[in-house]
Amino acid sequence: MTALVIVGHGTRSAAGVEQFVAFVERVRRRAAGALGDVEGGFIELSRPPLTDAVGALVDRGHRSLVALPLVLTAAGHGKGDIPAALARERERHPGLSYVYGRPLGPHPLLHTALEQRVDAALAGDDRAGTWVALIGRGSTDPDANAEVAKVARLLWEGRGYAGVEPGFVSLAEPSVPAVLDRLRRLGARRIVVAPYFLFAGVLPDRIAAQSADFAAAHPDLDVRVADLIGDCDALADLVLERHAEARRGDIRMNCDTCAYRVLMPGFADKVGRPQTPHDHPDDPVDGHGHGHAHGHGHGHAHGHGHGHGRHGQVEGRCGHDAEGPHRGHVAVVGGGPGPEDLITVRGRALLDAADVVVVDRLAPRGLLAGLRPGVEVVDAAKVPRGPSMGQDAINAALVAHARAGRRVVRLKGGDPYVFGRGHEEVQACAAAGVEVTVVPGVTSAVAAAALAGVPVTHRGVAHDVTVVSGHLPPGHPDSLVDWAALGRARGTVVLLMAVDTVGKIAAVLVEHGRAPDTPVLAVQDAGHPGQRTVTARLDEIGAAAAREGIGPPAVFVLGPVVALASSDLPA
Ligand code: SAH
Repeated sequence: MTALVIVGHGTRSAAGVEQFVAFVERVRRRAAGALGDVEGGFIELSRPPLTDAVGALVDRGHRSLVALPLVLTAAGHGKGDIPAALARERERHPGLSYVYGRPLGPHPLLHTALEQRVDAALAGDDRAGTWVALIGRGSTDPDANAEVAKVARLLWEGRGYAGVEPGFVSLAEPSVPAVLDRLRRLGARRIVVAPYFLFAGVLPDRIAAQSADFAAAHPDLDVRVADLIGDCDALADLVLERHAEARRGDIRMNCDTCAYRVLMPGFADKVGRPQTPHDHPDDPVDGHGHGHAHGHGHGHAHGHGHGHGRHGQVEGRCGHDAEGPHRGHVAVVGGGPGPEDLITVRGRALLDAADVVVVDRLAPRGLLAGLRPGVEVVDAAKVPRGPSMGQDAINAALVAHARAGRRVVRLKGGDPYVFGRGHEEVQACAAAGVEVTVVPGVTSAVAAAALAGVPVTHRGVAHDVTVVSGHLPPGHPDSLVDWAALGRARGTVVLLMAVDTVGKIAAVLVEHGRAPDTPVLAVQDAGHPGQRTVTARLDEIGAAAAREGIGPPAVFVLGPVVALASSDLPA
């Protein structure tokens, strides 16, 4: 399983560090078994440092990690500092690769946690008479501030508070006193200040202090401060969800309106530029520690981090593939028998994130219409025994695109490993040092029969099913199939690629003992609008299929299960 490294930005608060460490332990417990290995580390200020966390995982043999920034919104830390620190770790450990997951929020689990913190502060007092001031960290990145405004709205929606207003403790307006004054002038009598913060730190302390000052100056108002989100199960579950997403390749960062991507009034200097070191002039003590943390000429995320300039043209989102521009990968995805909704959720997610899709003729081509604009589609149409893109050419294309840093989906029909040459592609990628994964699919060997109302097994009728390629007929010198044994067997036989050979195969099966009246079902274009079926006795199926013009792609199902057909098949 892919190990997980949870990356914090660090804090001067001992309580905050303690909560982080306890939280990593909680994630470890909740993941129990489902996840290989969990470590956590900070990029600055606190111990353990990220480099120790990564080093521990590498020492335990991990070479492939999911790295999750423990941040609520994507701003300087999530877009720049943390990817830069991870890139340094990759330089330190040759062969190490990682997928960078997306920030935690917005997420319903967080909104529920905030609601619980507000309720705890209310201690039974009614929501309708309560205004909430949701206080974010604040950023020079307007997109990050907009995320806090979005969370404020989502927190208000349907929960019965008088209202929820966003505010910021640093770098953005309205400030804590400003938002509290705004609520006072709107007529608020009771205000709960809800810090949108994970763990204790200097800034949450400042929120509490500023709220207390405001309350002291306005004794007619009831101002309370809610607890932080803190180390809790909901947060651990959210981390595990983000980990699972990243493993699936779904690493979208929500920055459609990021100032590095979209021209914003007052931010013209940022469009198309890489994320640059951010400066928090109002941070305590010696700022953010940038002086030493970034003083080693690491170029701070240039080429590693947000990199809108480089990735922007590739896709409609921030391609924060933190591995740099040359860490592509290939997913060999089984697309199912044809209908667009018979692909797996994981396959669909990879397709949504793909830069290049190499597609077979029998793959669910309807899905291509839904790809993002600009995705390159390579047609590897393999017409049986007709012109085709040779397997070597396909393998070479997969490797070349991945080496160019693209996320490649090899979209195949059915399951990639059922007569799909999927493993040859996996081997070719592995041999070339390209990261490759397989996503199983719904195979036509089982689904074609099901879509025609026939189960391939049924209690008391058939306790075995054999899937056979009919590509090479009985007697062919290269055939690896024991046709005589299939003739003696009594269960279900499913023939793929057998349109031209089914007559010959049927004769050999009868010759070796299969009853000539064994029912056979032919299903052509299973799952497609033009799906057709023909049934016949085993000794007549060759002639019947030819007479009815059954053509590829078709599956033949033979055995007693065919008599169970639930549709209106001919008797
Ligand atoms: N990997 C694929 C099979 C590839 S071999 C899978 O798991 O389904 C190609 C053969 O699959 C075809 O000759 C045909 O026998 C079968 N096939 C694929 N899609 C089909 C469909 N929609 N209907 C009927 N047969 C299909």
